[in-house]
Amino acid sequence: MTKHFWQEEFETLGKKDLQKLQVERLNATITNASRSSFYSKLFGKKNIQPGAITDIAQIAELPFTTKQDLRNHFPYGFLTLPKKDIIRLHSSSGTTGNPTVIFHNRHDLNSWANLMARSLFCAGVRDTDVFQNICGYGLFTGGLGFQYGIETLGALSIPAGAGNSLRQIKLMRDYGTTAAHAIPSYLGRLYEVFEAEGLDPKKDTQLKTLVIGAEPHTDGQRKRIEEMFGVKAYNSFGLSEMNGPGVAFECTYQNGLHIWEDAYVVEIVNPDTLQAVPDGEYGELVMTTLDRQAMPLIRYRTRDITRILPGQCECGRTHRRIDRITGRTDDMFIIKGCNVFPMQIEGVLMKIPEVGSDYMITLETMNGVDEMVVEVEVRNDWFQGDIRRLDKLSKTITHQIRDEVLAKPIVKLVEAGSIPKSEGKAIRVTDNRKNGLN
Ligand code: AMP
Ligand code: ZN
Repeated sequence: MTKHFWQEEFETLGKKDLQKLQVERLNATITNASRSSFYSKLFGKKNIQPGAITDIAQIAELPFTTKQDLRNHFPYGFLTLPKKDIIRLHSSSGTTGNPTVIFHNRHDLNSWANLMARSLFCAGVRDTDVFQNICGYGLFTGGLGFQYGIETLGALSIPAGAGNSLRQIKLMRDYGTTAAHAIPSYLGRLYEVFEAEGLDPKKDTQLKTLVIGAEPHTDGQRKRIEEMFGVKAYNSFGLSEMNGPGVAFECTYQNGLHIWEDAYVVEIVNPDTLQAVPDGEYGELVMTTLDRQAMPLIRYRTRDITRILPGQCECGRTHRRIDRITGRTDDMFIIKGCNVFPMQIEGVLMKIPEVGSDYMITLETMNGVDEMVVEVEVRNDWFQGDIRRLDKLSKTITHQIRDEVLAKPIVKLVEAGSIPKSEGKAIRVTDNRKNGLN
């Protein structure tokens, strides 16, 4: 019999049963969380009693947890278990202040590996695939998170790690890689190396599935990746505070990301009022872990902006879907009085065929005026030749960005491959303005 789901007993639960499970798990989570020094104080102050939840909507009465709380109680303030029971930590990529660190016991790692396997299966990966994991192994969750998921699913894993494109291509060709995971901003670079080697990933590899995530990207960028590699590319969302990858994933219908509601309670709130917004409306994603023992988090404000997509998915999974992340509440910048999210600019650029795979936004004060400089890589075949053509392209990009964000940018066209690449997630915005942020 063909298997349609990885864990049918959870993935297709009706709404009532799912909510019943959530209530049970939330009560257990509250009881467990009150063993940590952070939550025991917080619950004491707010008079929160374990076992008091009878309807999942009551979650709105619980207090939020923020990244600042995690930093203030670094490193062990959220632990519910003695250190001898903890077997791994991961920490997030912050460059200033205390990092965000998450601890796992064996139960947590098994649960995460299962969610990851479920997510990969949902995107059509099977045990017959050869899966190359192209991302950093270490404290970043993308490496080991995917590794254990691929192994749990039973596909052949290639723990390739990040970078070294020639080696990535060789691995792909030597072992017949059929599926791979990478951050979207790296795949444009990888494609350029294929081209420079006179290779075409469509003909010269057996790739059919790519899993892309860990950083914001537009549907336009996804489509480009699909065309370059001749594959289907599925969006994978996660954050280390909620384990890492395996939180929400696209199924083969590619219409939003199923967010695993047996493992998390999902809320979307208005970031200013902190009140829930109706399905379909954008707001900040707030998540509660339901199956994590060592370090449960309650109503964690992710700062990621998305919305619930109303309606059922045709795949048969009942867990609700979130839309792709449009940005974070903290990556919006203000220029010339206009609020701008980097993804708005990417959205414009990815629709222009002459544009290459990378771009960079720099905010500068020039002659006392704040300007938004957008460097845009142009496809190699286009960059050579007639200067008037480039001039026209630059004007088109300027107008289209201005129409989208209402502020006029200074557009600089540059050669493909000339924008410096960061090791991990792409850095899209640098703010050099004299008066600092905003
Ligand atoms: P980290 O915990 O360092 O891995 O970073 C997690 C953050 O990366 C999330 O909170 C999001 O802002 C971002 N992120 C992860 N996956 C995606 C995705 N598929 N689309 C957009 N942003 C993502
Ligand atoms: Zn689906």
